[in-house]
Amino acid sequence: MLNPKFSAKPAAGTKSLGIRELSELCAERAKVVGIENVYDFTLGNPSTPPPQAVLDCIKELAEAEDQVAIHGYSSNQGFDETREAIAKSYNRRFGCNMTKDNFIMVSGATTALHTISIILNIDENSELIAIAPFFPAYHTVAAVGGNKLVIVPPDTENFQINMEALEAAINPNTQGVIINSPNNPSGTIYSPETIQKIANLLIKKSEEYGHAIYIIADEPYRELVYTDEIVPYIPDYYPNTIIAYSYSKSLSFAGDRIGYVCTDNNIEDFDGVWRALKKAALTAGNVCAPSFFQRVIEKCVDVEPNMDDYIYNRNLLMNGLQEIGIHTANPSGAFYLFVQAPFGMSAPEFAELCVKHDIYIVPADSFGCPGWLRLSYCVSRATCEGSLPGFAAAYKEAEAMAAAK
Ligand code: PLP
Repeated sequence: MLNPKFSAKPAAGTKSLGIRELSELCAERAKVVGIENVYDFTLGNPSTPPPQAVLDCIKELAEAEDQVAIHGYSSNQGFDETREAIAKSYNRRFGCNMTKDNFIMVSGATTALHTISIILNIDENSELIAIAPFFPAYHTVAAVGGNKLVIVPPDTENFQINMEALEAAINPNTQGVIINSPNNPSGTIYSPETIQKIANLLIKKSEEYGHAIYIIADEPYRELVYTDEIVPYIPDYYPNTIIAYSYSKSLSFAGDRIGYVCTDNNIEDFDGVWRALKKAALTAGNVCAPSFFQRVIEKCVDVEPNMDDYIYNRNLLMNGLQEIGIHTANPSGAFYLFVQAPFGMSAPEFAELCVKHDIYIVPADSFGCPGWLRLSYCVSRATCEGSLPGFAAAYKEAEAMAAAK
């Protein structure tokens, strides 16, 4: 017997241009014209291998004598040695005073965010805030915890934060504000001034409503920075911060599923928050983060990302597209270039024009930013170089369409 819920198909004629749909469309097209003739900018899947020091460490661990210990369960919170190594790294980098007890190892930022969302479901009206443009998976993050996601509209001038809109979105049901910097998809790093303003606002609102409103710092791109801007260490500005971190991007470990949840010591009600986090991590399915990669992290905690290709691709695409006439953001970090659909056309319309030239870029409607599109430049240099003539042709066609209107 079929379960009607499982076999339900989308209504005829519905067309989605989400990240995964476009990526699958591109893979199908590649089977026809060859992988070298399609330009896939859809996924945030690192194109660079993990740094050599990490690969050496993986080899060493794979050949170590005690394979039972390396592949067995760790405690729910993770190996003591791994968490101690990360704590020491935090203390060196941010001048804090962490120990292993400030960390739970989890399977990437997704599990970290789900864990945090679960603890912030204070009652049936609980809300989390996302600031557009934002990573679309935040819808699932909020839903997993039973929270409503409230969206703050974007500041498309400079992709910092529209403080008045943020203030208007906060209400007595607000339990957390997700801050993702460097940002997917805009590449923006929120400045120390912006973080200070958010902190001041949340202190005021927490007092007004009589409960803590947490910052959820989603930081998988923390180390991927192309300018001399500092990525502020948010707990210095706002103690009620819970950090979701992942090595998916910085060490090219997206498929290896390793990251952590952490708070600084100065979070209010440390013991209460940590009791809740440990329980929620289990609810989110985190029995033990991958043991092998916990051991890798323990030994490679300060290894820096391999950014040569990203720097090359960022500059090539940003300059190339701007020369064509396409308006782009100026990304300071992460590995995404945010571009505006030209001639006032919608982002899905421009994405479809690009598809005709075998270029796959994602309309940012689902990121809360209509009229813009995201290119992931964590791809090969050849993909970036080869795409420019197609972008120029799509731009010309967009111009002709606008003139014909
Ligand atoms: N947060 C942001 C902003 C992301 O861009 C991503 C992945 O693209 C994630 C979280 C999820 O990362 P992970 O692979 O560690 O689950």
